[in-house]
Amino acid sequence: MARVVALSGRVVLNSGQSASRAWLVDGRLTLRDPAGAGSAESRGAGAPDAELTGWFYPGLVDVHCHIGLGSEGPVARETAVTQARADLAAGTLLVRDAGAQADTHFLDGRGDVPVIIRAGQHVARPKRYLRHLAVELDEAADLPEEVARQARAGDGWVKIVADWIDRSAGQEAVVAPLWEPAVLADAVAAAHEAGARMTAHAFSTEAIGPLLEAGIDCIEHGSGMLEEHISEAAARGVAVTPTLVQSANFAEFAAAGQAKFPAYAAQMRWLYERRFALLAQLVDAGVQILPGSDAGGTLAHGTLPDELALWAEAGLSAGDIMDFATWRARAYLASGPGAGAVQAGATGLIDGAMADVVHYEQDPAELLAAGALTPTTVVRAGEHSGA
Ligand SMILES: [Zn+2]
Repeated sequence: MARVVALSGRVVLNSGQSASRAWLVDGRLTLRDPAGAGSAESRGAGAPDAELTGWFYPGLVDVHCHIGLGSEGPVARETAVTQARADLAAGTLLVRDAGAQADTHFLDGRGDVPVIIRAGQHVARPKRYLRHLAVELDEAADLPEEVARQARAGDGWVKIVADWIDRSAGQEAVVAPLWEPAVLADAVAAAHEAGARMTAHAFSTEAIGPLLEAGIDCIEHGSGMLEEHISEAAARGVAVTPTLVQSANFAEFAAAGQAKFPAYAAQMRWLYERRFALLAQLVDAGVQILPGSDAGGTLAHGTLPDELALWAEAGLSAGDIMDFATWRARAYLASGPGAGAVQAGATGLIDGAMADVVHYEQDPAELLAAGALTPTTVVRAGEHSGA
């Protein structure tokens, strides 16, 4: 006999529509009562095996989560599994890795980790990013070719580093662009030609205009975006991953750099101070914001709920946060080219499909306000993996 889990409360589907009741029949979502008339043969009328009440979503989506990344180089397979399971336990069921040195395709098809959409390895210039993380190009002109190569290694995304501190400028050093606008435009074209979308790390204001002009699909951090950039991003349908957990560290970065790089310190303090207002501006302008923990390297895995709690602190409503962080982010990832997009669209909460569900017994609005969006139950590929 099939195992039936009854869900009641608010069940939000991949489409954004919601139902007050749904059932998991051997892990498969159905919106029709399996004990009801006409379907009794699948089970026999009677009580479900388990009942869950509360709020149900097709999982949190973390679009900036470096599974497989290590500060000294690619991590061992078991470390990648540990990272991915920490994210799953936090309720994250879909990840875009936003750049990692390790190939984590061995995790595909496993039910104990999130679905992962890969973006190859970061592409940067020598001394213009954190050591050991990126492919470092001696010749900036090689960017389009390298982007095409990373597109083949990924699942429909490529990630470049668009700005970083240029220490060669000494006292005057600030976070500044790595690439000329023309090479950026060629690189985005190369990504698109290879069947991938492109996203870019950008802290500074100066990096944003050329990225938008080049036709970038998505911006990571975007902490220096001005009003003109925000309206341009909205008009072009460019999504932004605000990473407030990361920008909370900017004041510390400023303090650490003050003596040697005062201009950089001033820049980072300005970016730090505007971070909450910027998030509100992005949402008001109609930019699709994407949830990203930036886990990996220095930040811990499983911290996406902390990011969303900061969104609440910045003044976003709980309803908007849960929409942006679940079905809207999933729809965005599913909307593009590549194998990852297909997987994003085929998993989650779809009537008739194996279910990926995150369940909160308590109202997510209360959990967010308390800074603790901890799931009650996590179901991945129809299997309960936490309670
Ligand atoms: Zn990152």
